[in-house]
Amino acid sequence: MKLRRLPGLPTFLALSLAALALAFGCGQATTSLRAAEPAPGAAATRPPFVRVIGSVQDGGFPHVACNGLACRRARENGSHRYVASLALILPESEKIYFFDATPDIREQLEAVADAREPRPDGVDRAPIDGVFLSHAHMGHYLGLAFFGYEAVHTRELLVYATPRMAAFLRDNGPWSQLVEKKNVSLREVGPGSTVNLEDGVSVTLVPSPHREEYTDTVGFLIRGPERALLFVPDTDSWQRWSPSIEDWLEQVDVALLDGTFYSGDELPNRAIEEIGHPLVANSMDRFEKLGQAAPTAPEILFIHMNHSNPLLLAASPELAALERRGFKIAAEGMEFDL
Ligand SMILES: [Zn+2]
Ligand SMILES: [Zn+2]
Repeated sequence: MKLRRLPGLPTFLALSLAALALAFGCGQATTSLRAAEPAPGAAATRPPFVRVIGSVQDGGFPHVACNGLACRRARENGSHRYVASLALILPESEKIYFFDATPDIREQLEAVADAREPRPDGVDRAPIDGVFLSHAHMGHYLGLAFFGYEAVHTRELLVYATPRMAAFLRDNGPWSQLVEKKNVSLREVGPGSTVNLEDGVSVTLVPSPHREEYTDTVGFLIRGPERALLFVPDTDSWQRWSPSIEDWLEQVDVALLDGTFYSGDELPNRAIEEIGHPLVANSMDRFEKLGQAAPTAPEILFIHMNHSNPLLLAASPELAALERRGFKIAAEGMEFDL
């Protein structure tokens, strides 16, 4: 039951994919499943692809302990979203890499179970092949704990991180236990450096200015044989980027960018300079110019939305305006062929 033969997908798998999309509360899940269908006569091998397995800020959605309107509504109609994360799936070798290990990693591991042959009964000690970590804020690495002795108990799972992030994990419990027990094998990668995963597939760590309490922060430029994708879940305003965010966008076809807050209205008691994230309203003004200047400008989706963000409300005027301007928000189940 490999995903690479999509046109011949057994009905039950197609149904389970649809159920997965529904379970994620995502109406846009089939976007690039369609794009992946090969032309008649072409080989049916699917290229490497990225699947969105989480789309919201560290506290989840409904946000933990939140009784606001959007969170209440999401709880009532079961439209949960998970903390921002991507899976890179390599159909030929059946390898899976996660970008960040979130507190929702249990559900997120299940969301990629269709990507490889079923494993024997019992706990799969190698459910994925590696994890790239962006930084040490709680939404982005707490899920690592599930790979430890008490849960999955992986054997030398590859964890790619900057030297500062790796040192943080080595030097602080409970993460140090994962290293000592060899549940994980840390691979230090400097910001700006590239890891080759297999022929034609690589990941570059993109330095991202962001609060540095514990570690530095990176985003990821994921290159496949045909296309490239940029993932920047957490950053300060784009003005602080050097090289500029546009220099990175030039290299990709799709970008999933920090969309934590839509506008300053969500944080009435905080000055704009103190918010520490680019506001979606400003990002659209900035990136709209790219599309006007070049027909090859990347497709831009916003991700890592906070529960206060009106883009999470299905019928909000903000979401309608964003889509009119040619942008999207990321949703669980979306896929992008590389
Ligand atoms: Zn975050
Ligand atoms: Zn953060």
